[in-house]
Amino acid sequence: MPFIEKTLVACRDCGRSYPFTVEEQEAFARQGYRNEPSRCPECRETRRAKRAASPMRSFNDNVNQRSEPRVMHPVVCSRCGKATEVPFLPRADRAVYCRDCYSQEPRSSHERSNY
Ligand SMILES: [Zn+2]
Ligand SMILES: [Zn+2]
Repeated sequence: MPFIEKTLVACRDCGRSYPFTVEEQEAFARQGYRNEPSRCPECRETRRAKRAASPMRSFNDNVNQRSEPRVMHPVVCSRCGKATEVPFLPRADRAVYCRDCYSQEPRSSHERSNY
């Protein structure tokens, strides 16, 4: 698909309209971006500089996205009586199974148990 220079309406940060050049479109495509930039090149540069100035913050953001800590709840398996943990809050009116029993149960009987 050939790139054509476009003029985008307004930068999200400063409100100016700015050109989205062919080179930038190619660079964006190379980096895997599908969307048009929502900021002018200057504001993008400013944001990048800010982000570079606070590496801890972006590091934390990445960690949060990748491995959100799971809250495990201790339960007793309704089938074999083994103590186990489930990643959801167990309800009194619902049978809770350990991993082994759960995998042995037919899928359809508790599709809604969040496992
Ligand atoms: Zn701007
Ligand atoms: Zn069990």
